[in-house]
Order: sequence, then C-alpha cells, then structure tokens
Amino acid sequence: MNARKTMPRKRDPRLEVRDWSKVPRHLKLSINLIPRPLHRRNLRVALGDRWRPFADKIKRERGPLCEICGAFPATASDCHAHEEWSYDEHAHPSVAKLERIAIVCSKCHSVEHFTNTGIRWREGKLSGEQFAAIRSHFYVVNGIDANELPWYLDYHYEHAQQIEQRRSMWLWRIDFGEFASMLSSVEIERMQPNAGTLR
Ligand SMILES: [Zn+2]
Ligand SMILES: [Zn+2]
Repeated sequence: MNARKTMPRKRDPRLEVRDWSKVPRHLKLSINLIPRPLHRRNLRVALGDRWRPFADKIKRERGPLCEICGAFPATASDCHAHEEWSYDEHAHPSVAKLERIAIVCSKCHSVEHFTNTGIRWREGKLSGEQFAAIRSHFYVVNGIDANELPWYLDYHYEHAQQIEQRRSMWLWRIDFGEFASMLSSVEIERMQPNAGTLR
C-alpha cells in the first residue's frame, strides 16, 4: 500500500552536464535587452525625423564596417546605427545612459535585440533561414562551435532575460550623455519613464 508510484521525470535541461571549458570568457557579440520601462525611450524616438539624417551621417563617417564582427555590410540597409546604453542600478532612481552609437551589421544588431528578432520571426517578417543565420552568427562571431555547445545561445538568452526582468522593476532616469545637446529639455523630459511623477 505504500508503493507510491513515481512519475517518470522529464530530464531538466538545466541539470545537463555542460562543458563550460569551451565557453569564452568575453563575448564579442552578446544579447543586451532593454528594460521594459525604457522601451521606445531612446535617441531615435526622441529625435523623430532628425534621427535618419543623423544616423546616415555617422554611417557615412564611420561605416559601413561592423564594429562588432568586422563584416562589410552588403547593402546600406544592412548597416545600422545601434544605441549603446549603460544601466546603473545602484543610483536612485536607476540611470540609463546613452554611451555611444555603434555602427553594426544587421545580423549583429539582430543578436543584440534578440527578443525583437524572435518576434519578427514569429510574425513572419524573418524567414526560418534568416533566423537560423542570426543564431549561427552569434556562434561564429564569438568563436564558439555550435555543435559542441548547442545549448549556449539559449543559456545566454535566458540570462539576458533575467537581467532584463530585474531591471524592469526599477524606476529609471534617462541620461542622453553627450547626445543631450541634440535635444531640447522638453524632448528629454518627454522621454523619461513615469514623466510627471518622478520629481
Ligand atoms: Zn556584425
Ligand atoms: Zn540597436
């Protein structure tokens, strides 16, 4: 009567024996997710119509080589201006600072904003082939053998999502850094999360 049936357990992939020795210490190309309170609160949105000419100018000056992988984008539309933000979670409120604009290829950019890339794929805006090419770009640029560490991209993505979730809990102040001079104080204020309550 005490013979309790044990359910056959599904193997937890997190408990798989993983070979960490092949994982590089530093990733050249990583997934960096924007905390939710900061979505659409960036220089591109703040500049509105002025973003395109500004981005085109820096792409002409510094492009088209990708700063991350060194690829020479095939077309102008493959060369992107990517906002690099730092996040200080120890400040009160936390501070998101626009550090610089990087010139990147569309594949590196798609890895950086991987959640968005997955959405584009599910909505059919990216083919399965294009999505697979972006996944494999992550491996190639970081010098990781995808056959040896097939779990690594998903692990890295999960980790990036955990960071995003934590950062999404904080109250943020946006600092446009050296780019603040391109914006009026009203435009800067309009970009702040919880504008009106945070004084
Ligand atoms: Zn690239
Ligand atoms: Zn970007």
